[in-house]
Amino acid sequence: MSTTPPTFHEMWRDLASIGRDPDSGGYRRYAWTGADADCRAWFQAQAETRGLTYEVDRNGNQWAWLGDPAAGDAVVTGSHLDSVPDGGAFDGPLGVVSSFAALDELRRRGVEFTKPVAITNFGDEEGARFGLACVGSRLAAGQLGVDKACELRDADGITLPQAMERAGYDPTGIGPDPDRLARIGAFVELHVEQGRALDLTGDRVGIASSIWPHGRWRFDFRGEANHAGTTRLADRRDPMLSYAETVLAARREAELAGAVATFGKIAVEPNGVNAIPSLVRGWLDSRAADQQALDTVVAGIEKAAREYADRHGIDLDVVRESFTPVVEFEHALRDELARVLGASTPVLGTGAGHDAGILSASVPTAMLFVRNPTGVSHSPAEYATEDDCVAGVAALADVLEGLACS
Ligand SMILES: [Zn+2]
Repeated sequence: MSTTPPTFHEMWRDLASIGRDPDSGGYRRYAWTGADADCRAWFQAQAETRGLTYEVDRNGNQWAWLGDPAAGDAVVTGSHLDSVPDGGAFDGPLGVVSSFAALDELRRRGVEFTKPVAITNFGDEEGARFGLACVGSRLAAGQLGVDKACELRDADGITLPQAMERAGYDPTGIGPDPDRLARIGAFVELHVEQGRALDLTGDRVGIASSIWPHGRWRFDFRGEANHAGTTRLADRRDPMLSYAETVLAARREAELAGAVATFGKIAVEPNGVNAIPSLVRGWLDSRAADQQALDTVVAGIEKAAREYADRHGIDLDVVRESFTPVVEFEHALRDELARVLGASTPVLGTGAGHDAGILSASVPTAMLFVRNPTGVSHSPAEYATEDDCVAGVAALADVLEGLACS
């Protein structure tokens, strides 16, 4: 390494314009698009300017290595650079930029690395293009079958392999990568907090305890389409009424259990202003700190929905479309982070999924959160102050030093 590496500030500035929509101010960095390619080129340049060994694995995840990967017991840090539609600047990139900055900090400290260290950018974490989150890490960990991955299509019908190929990557080798994961002794992902827990406790940095179990359920309310002007109220079988009552029940049940429940997507047939609907299809997303709480919330919502449906002469079907059980981060590694950062560092659960959650089935994994004063995420309002970002880098550097240095 001959020149001084770019500072946190310079890295942040270089990334800021990539994939940013000028009208919304949000980011549109979808997997295997031009914006994604620009982010990837940025990552490669960061690796090379620091003299790190750059590689892309078979699933399109990027790696920057210090030391010999084959030595094993590697300490890996990183996150993702892609975004949701009109996402914020911090979700993902904060972890990647902080990883490079933390490595620079360790070199400044003159520490001696006793283990190989790597920085990663996992591909397609948000799933904005193909509808499935954490594709890069799921493939590597064997949690997404190759056949299923090859069937993923974007809104234009382009499959994942086609998209990879068009972006200049060979998709023929996608699939489980156990040898690569076996080389990792610990993975630590720094991420902007996607809530206000740290803002409420007044701490800059926290440690993740677990990722809440979460799932998606489809509620189909079927009634009878009819004229909005000529059908007497008493004669109607209007599924919108049962649906609306169910939305309120979801809020009530979630509040009772200290959980969250959201109907964020809806489809209506025939979807006419002057027609009573024949079908209202609503998707419930619910998450809770533990399985029992989640079961209680969803069962309560379904029970209420059935009562409302019966009252209005509506047929109801409820289908669970996806489910992810709780992820408990490894306790020994979590304790090590608490030892390095101080016992008073808050330990938080999170309702959001992450690559770290996927990898935790194969590798000892931990997460650090950096305070987000707005608590907003997946929006341009997502935020962390410069001082908090600096504190995050220092915390990550301390953690990496504890794990990878003598
Ligand atoms: Zn993220």
